[in-house]
Amino acid sequence: MQNEELPVPVEVDRYTGKWSVDGLPMVLVPQHLLVNNMDAVEQRLGRDESALLFRDAGRRSAFHWCAHESARLGLSGAAIVRHYLDRLSRRGWGRFEIDTLDPSRGALSVRVRHSALLPVDGSSRSVDRACYLFEAWFEGALQYASGEPGIAPVHEDRCGVNADECRFTTDGPGRCHDKQRRP
Ligand SMILES: [Zn+2]
Repeated sequence: MQNEELPVPVEVDRYTGKWSVDGLPMVLVPQHLLVNNMDAVEQRLGRDESALLFRDAGRRSAFHWCAHESARLGLSGAAIVRHYLDRLSRRGWGRFEIDTLDPSRGALSVRVRHSALLPVDGSSRSVDRACYLFEAWFEGALQYASGEPGIAPVHEDRCGVNADECRFTTDGPGRCHDKQRRP
């Protein structure tokens, strides 16, 4: 695929070489590097502690992205979450399909095919529910879209590690105000 046919508009600074998409800096990372880094943390801490470690950073980053795009495009509520998942799909993180979305109730159900967080050839990574980073990202997007300080906890209840796709859901209406809760 030629550069002009990419699903997102990539700009490259001629002087610094830095990439950006939609005005935000980006880096192109080999998938095996990402997966091997996650594996290294999980080997040291275990899956649950790794998920906890990255949770706040993931939420903050998704919130920041949504705020940036909201200011740029004037999107809000469910529309900003839909845009977020569309962009994740276009940037190669997987194919995201929304089944349920109501930020005002903290309701979300998303299926992901071809998740970029699944183990890749040459990786020794071996965890169930391998895509927990997305849980935090969805929480941050929901938090931004709802305008509420509380967080609707998102869980990956089925993963492509041992199924044909990943599925993420919220617990239903209700919010968690404890940012340090365990995933
Ligand atoms: Zn998964």
